[in-house]
Amino acid sequence: MNFTKEELDNIRDELSYKRKNVYSSVSEEEIEKINEYAKGYCAFLDAAKTEREAVKKTLEIVSENGFVPYEFGDKLEVGGKYYYNNRGRSVYLFVIGSENIENGIRISAAHIDSPRLDIKQNPLYDEGNMAFLKTHYYGGIKKYQWTAIPLALHGVVITLDGKTVDICVGEDDNDPVFYINDLLPHLGRDQMEKTASQVIPGEKLNVLVGSIPLGEGSNDIKLGILKILSEKYGIKEEDFLSAEIMALPAFKARDIGFDRSIIGAYGHDDRVCAYPALSAIIKTKAPVHTVMTVLADKEETGSGGNTGMKSDVFTDLISEISAALGANERRVRANSKCLSADVNAIYDPNFADVYETKNAAFLNCGVVMSKYTGSRGKSGTSDASAEMVAFVRELFDREGVIWQSAELGKVDQGGGGTVAVYIANRNIEVVDLGVGVISMHAPYEAISKADLYMAYKAFLAFNK
Ligand code: MN
Ligand code: MN
Repeated sequence: MNFTKEELDNIRDELSYKRKNVYSSVSEEEIEKINEYAKGYCAFLDAAKTEREAVKKTLEIVSENGFVPYEFGDKLEVGGKYYYNNRGRSVYLFVIGSENIENGIRISAAHIDSPRLDIKQNPLYDEGNMAFLKTHYYGGIKKYQWTAIPLALHGVVITLDGKTVDICVGEDDNDPVFYINDLLPHLGRDQMEKTASQVIPGEKLNVLVGSIPLGEGSNDIKLGILKILSEKYGIKEEDFLSAEIMALPAFKARDIGFDRSIIGAYGHDDRVCAYPALSAIIKTKAPVHTVMTVLADKEETGSGGNTGMKSDVFTDLISEISAALGANERRVRANSKCLSADVNAIYDPNFADVYETKNAAFLNCGVVMSKYTGSRGKSGTSDASAEMVAFVRELFDREGVIWQSAELGKVDQGGGGTVAVYIANRNIEVVDLGVGVISMHAPYEAISKADLYMAYKAFLAFNK
């Protein structure tokens, strides 16, 4: 074969697939939009660190944008914008489209819970001149990462007389923070011999909350803390029994790098998809299809419970919406399409051996689509159809969304799941789409501003 260099280049351009880097593909004007969009996201991150706070903040934002509360049985209007608040821990936003809903709903489903340390039901004790709260970790964490960093306490206490007491300490610059002790290296010989999963066992994740004794008795530090809690919140030790309080990193979202292209924050997983899905539905004016954004809870513990994605609430809601519009809900679901909006792992050159680079997500190469997730032989995946991937691919191509296809890591290296399978099980076409994360599930995760913006463009295109 005797092709000239130019001919070979042409054939290569014509036939080969290459990932695009957002920064070498978009205009200066779009780069400005990328940076501007990131600011709104950072504000959301700082205001919505727990699922309850995320719902609260979301309701604030959507209420300002014309969404009204919906209850089962309510009447619905074409063009109407509604939210269904599920117990303050998950929320469903939807806009009724102009065409027959039996042609299907366009659903974007993200989750708003993140790994953290939940305070146990009987948590407070003192020992060795320190008072602590015992915790039980929530979601998949590397426990050793949660020691020796500033922590905040967020949550609610429901008292015996039914009062809800909101707790948020450690976020204001004048607040105290909390802390989990680690062992000094000078005495760490035995500890350093252990495997990473045993360096800090779960029962050592005790949160330091004070040290001044009220009197001279052996439980007097604990008593000192109880007195402060009583004065500040009007609660007693017994009230912890009906509380949901969590310890999470007291870090704020900040730019990373000289070029400020990366954002460091707690809980990118999955607010980095929840926020674009939320901002896209707000920007979606008078859609043809009915569109829905789901912000779910409990993904990090397997999507169970009445606020998780396995809950019947989801199908109940579609069923009620269908009934209100005189549609057959089974047909609605059969024709619906969903972007399961969750994060993926960004290829990390520091841990190159766990990635398969032909099918890994690279930083700044756009929003990530995963046809399938799962472990070993794709166990636990819904595996999107080639037709669904083709549908999304054509859409993104047309709307200028820069995206990449990836799976989590090397085959048999581990794996993970998302809410996709629980939605697909309801007879809905689903594919996973989200932003790649560096150091996923760490107290401080990192993402690319360009990838975040492409996720926003993707949800916008999908709703259109
Ligand atoms: Mn996630
Ligand atoms: Mn996760």
